[in-house]
Order: sequence, then C-alpha cells, then structure tokens
Amino acid sequence: MVESLLSAGPATQAMLARSTGLSAATVSNVVSRLRREGRVRTDFTVSTGRRAVLVQLQAVKFVAAGIEVSGDRMHAVLLRPGGDVLAGSSTPVSDPVTGADWSAVISGVLTLLLGRPEAEGSTLGAAGVALPALTGSGREQLPDCPDFLLPPEEDLQAVLGMGLGVPVTVASTAAMSAFAHASRLEGNSAALLFLNVGAEVTAGIVIGGQPYTGHAGLAGQLGHIRINDHGFPCRCGNRGCLNTVCSVPAMLAAYAAGRAPVTLQEFVVRAIAGDPAAQRIAEGAAEALGLAAAAAANIINPRHIILGGPLRPLGALLLDPFRRTLIREARPGIGDGAEVSLSTLGADVAAAGAALSAARHITTL
Ligand SMILES: [Zn+2]
Repeated sequence: MVESLLSAGPATQAMLARSTGLSAATVSNVVSRLRREGRVRTDFTVSTGRRAVLVQLQAVKFVAAGIEVSGDRMHAVLLRPGGDVLAGSSTPVSDPVTGADWSAVISGVLTLLLGRPEAEGSTLGAAGVALPALTGSGREQLPDCPDFLLPPEEDLQAVLGMGLGVPVTVASTAAMSAFAHASRLEGNSAALLFLNVGAEVTAGIVIGGQPYTGHAGLAGQLGHIRINDHGFPCRCGNRGCLNTVCSVPAMLAAYAAGRAPVTLQEFVVRAIAGDPAAQRIAEGAAEALGLAAAAAANIINPRHIILGGPLRPLGALLLDPFRRTLIREARPGIGDGAEVSLSTLGADVAAAGAALSAARHITTL
C-alpha cells in the first residue's frame, strides 16, 4: 500500500483497495495503523459525488530510543535525528528482574515514553541498550547489586528487536557514555577516553569517532589493570587491581578502617571540608587511576580524557592528582597533550549515547 502511495501519490481508500486488491476493511485497518505510526495523514474529500477518505504519505518522524539499565534505575530517552532529546524518563527497578524479563520491562518503558504528548507523531526507528557490563552470555552479577542479573545481550537484542520491530544494539554503559561525550564535543573528538569511577572503574573508548567495544563487548576494563603486586584480592581472581584502590566500595572501606562507616555522600562532604583521611584516600585513588589511564592513553593517544561517576563532586581533589600522575606516567605529548576534564553531562548520558549509536541504524523509506 505504501508502494502504491509512493508511485501514484495520494489516493482515496477505495482507490487503494482497487490498486492493491485488498478488501475495503483491510485497507481501512492498515490506514488506521499507518496513521497511528505517523506514516500517513488522512483527510475527508469528495470522490465521484461521495464522501471519501484521502490518504497521503507523511514524512516519517523517526526517533531513536536509548535505555540504560543499571542495578536500581532505568534511564530512557527518545532522540530526534539531530540528537536533541525529545522525551526522557527515569524509572526505578524495584524488584530483581531475571534475564528473560528484561525485554518486557524495557518495552514497557519505551511504550510509555512513545505515548507522551511530546512524542506524538514519532515513529521508533531503532533502539540502543546500555548495560553496566557485557559478558557475551550474560548472567553476570554486579558487584554492588547482588540481586541484579544482567540479561544475555544476544537474547536482549533478538527478543527486544522482535518485540519493537526495529534494530536493537547493545553495548556497555561506559562505551555509550564515551560516545555521548564525543558527539557533544566541539571539534576533534575522534579519540576519547571516558573513565567511570563507580562500583568499579570502567573505561569507554571512542576511536575514529566511533565507540570501540572490543571482540566480545568487554573492552575498557581499566579497573582490572594491576597497580600493586601486593594489594588486596580483586573479584577477578587477581590481586592489586585498580578497583581495589579506586572504586566507591574500596574508598569507603579504606575510610571505615578504624572509624564508623560513612555513605558516599558523607565521604565526599568530609573530603571537601578538609578531612585529611578522606582527602588522602581520594588522592591515592586518583593517582592510581592516573597510573592505569596513562597505560591506556599510551595506546590510544586520546584527545579528551573525561572522568565520570558518583565521585565527580570531589572536583579538583580527584582531577588534580589524576592529571599530575597521567602527565608523569604517560609518554610526553600523550598525557600533557590530552584535555582532562570532569563530565558535565547528566544522569541520562549513557541512554543518550545508546540512542545516538542506535540512530545510525535508522533506515527511511
Ligand atoms: Zn581485577
């Protein structure tokens, strides 16, 4: 029917029934669906003395959706082709979701978002999902969220893609955050390293303007670079990984040695207020991060290195020792040649990156 409208131009429903050989009821049903999807508009007209419905193709307003799944929240955004955010939502994930149920949960969030008034007339063209870790087979538990079971990304891609009827891409949160930063930076952002310091340190890599995720989506495990041969054991089985010094749990554990445990917010407040122990731990973590980042920077020679994650409010307490160590440890021209900054993008950064990445798969009529 779309082909008929494309080749012969606007037509009444009766004309469409004749040209396609479909029944009047079928044509009416298909037209209703296409109108809901924003692909055609209908107007009343008069044809051979009788009232008729004129159908004409509309330029389809495709949008790309991005969803970030984390242990406790799902951030979702709809992006216009130019990259502007059309609508967004943040939904708590209250109950543990098993791998198989993730497609249904994500579809539900997207259906609500597409039903918003600001998304009226938009058609979903592609969707991207950002996951905190990719394993190839899924089933990995997050270190800070034992109830959370990651969906196997291949299943998610196939089942969600089938349900939504659009191409679905799945990549790591760090890679999608890096891509969102690169696409929002002015000028040359072809080589960028995004370092997320959270439950672990994960790096998002952009090379040649595109996210680089590696053979099995596992690239960017900066947190498992060994920085101390005699350090604490890491959950990967090695000892002295960056994560054992520079991660939210490691820093809070170091601070709690000999004192009452504090929350992350309290730790940040105390460090900023001048608490020497909190400042020393933050500085040590930032130096360890700089050491590992120097190794990564020596390989990809990034133009931008951006620090993100919940420790951002530490500001210069994090940034200065990091930059100092990076410049000292990386080859001259690499550490001092990179622009180092704290992320200024919001909580939906990975969802926006996933939508931007998915948007490349949108095909129009
Ligand atoms: Zn490790």
